[in-house]
Amino acid sequence: MFDYLVVGAGFAGSVLAERLANGSGKKVLICDRRPHIGGNAYDFYNDEGILIHKYGPHIFHTNSKEVFDYLSRFTEWREYQHRVLAMVDGMLVPIPINLDTINKLYGLNLTSFEVEEFFKKVAEPCDNVKTSEDVVVSKVGRELYEKFFRGYTRKQWGLDPSELDASVTSRVPTRTNRDDRYFTDVYQAMPKNGYTKMFEKMLDHPNIKIMLNTDYRELEGEIEYDQMIYTGPVDSFFNYAYGKLPYRSLEFKHETHGVEQYQPAPVVNYPNEQPYTRITEFKYLTGQVHDKTSIVYEYPQAEGDPYYPIPRKENAELYRKYKELVDAETNVHFVGRLATYKYYNMDQIVAQALTEYGKIIGMKRKEAAVKVAANGSIPMPVSVVMPGNNGHNGIGQHLNKLKEERWLQKQ
Ligand code: FAD
Ligand code: UDP
Repeated sequence: MFDYLVVGAGFAGSVLAERLANGSGKKVLICDRRPHIGGNAYDFYNDEGILIHKYGPHIFHTNSKEVFDYLSRFTEWREYQHRVLAMVDGMLVPIPINLDTINKLYGLNLTSFEVEEFFKKVAEPCDNVKTSEDVVVSKVGRELYEKFFRGYTRKQWGLDPSELDASVTSRVPTRTNRDDRYFTDVYQAMPKNGYTKMFEKMLDHPNIKIMLNTDYRELEGEIEYDQMIYTGPVDSFFNYAYGKLPYRSLEFKHETHGVEQYQPAPVVNYPNEQPYTRITEFKYLTGQVHDKTSIVYEYPQAEGDPYYPIPRKENAELYRKYKELVDAETNVHFVGRLATYKYYNMDQIVAQALTEYGKIIGMKRKEAAVKVAANGSIPMPVSVVMPGNNGHNGIGQHLNKLKEERWLQKQ
């Protein structure tokens, strides 16, 4: 007899399994239909001995100290700031678009101030930014939109940016300075020994049993449990009662090359000519030293494993109908990217799972994250100071606090 059946061993399921076992002394069975833990963040050493991410590049970044401290109980970190180049007009230029992107693309020598004026001139003002097209065109104009965003987005989503919520392309900022980092979060780091090792440590508890290669439906009538945590696709749970919720899929093509370095950046985006969206070279992410190198191509497709909820109005409306069914379930908790139909990053999923645990035990997330069962113990987080604005000085700490509070309010 288990207290909880957790369906899915990705971030959502593993955080909840850990909290319920470690924080509340509950007996937990966690199952996954895949042959491994870690969900989409799963990594492993391939036949050549190179650490790769099976489901595409996963880069950890967050503004939440709470989330970072929580995960730091299960891993040490390797500082890593992600950088991406885009292949546009036969050139490799920084994306997010910044001062260097514009100067290189147009053979100019503008200053930050001048590039701001340049953007003002080419931008098409929009009173009501609604779509992913509006976001970009209103900031950098139509030409840059077409070079960097239109083709990439149509490929990635099978939709024109004008058919997608503003939130999609809003993930990529525009800069007038030379900052070429993909993310500006306070904490940017990779688990030192990989994600899978971190998940192993999370789930290493006498109260947690793991069943892989197991769809939860195979367990119906076979095991007893009190409550379920469900992290799979929400429409599938309800047997597609209102029809299929659209998710976007990808095909990953992995290759290993007999050279030390394959490309000049961790990720190269191909917005236009190619059928794939990007190529990732893993050694940049993991810091591994090896005389060969492994890369992955991402080919977007409609069919296949569901990876991305598709943020647009009609899908949100369909999800709302499923959400009514979710709210009527008393013994099942729906958590995670597929179960809540949210285009969330890993840190947001960790925060969502900690919040759900807080709700289950009637505590605020902050206290829930550090709760220890009567006879349990939790290792203290390893204190890691990230580079950039996470300094020791008072101003840095104050700014971090504000950033974190704003981020938490949005969740
Ligand atoms: P998942 O990781 O999808 O886990 C759900 C699990 O449930 C799966 O393992 C699945 O097999 C299992 N499951 C489903 N149905 C059943 C069933 N019926 N029975 C049993 N098991 C079931 N986030 C970042 O922060 N940074 C990044 O750089 C980043 N890059 C990404 C790149 C790609 C290509 C993708 C697709 C996502 C990326 N993400 C990134 C997002 C990140 O993957 C998610 O936020 C996170 O993995 C979601 O965790 P989850 O537990 O909700 O879902
Ligand atoms: N995007 C784009 N061109 C780029 C990078 C991103 O058009 O060079 C758009 C595209 O619609 C993409 C979205 O911005 O899906 C979000 O990009 P991000 O890199 O965050 O996507 P993810 O890593 O989640 O796949």
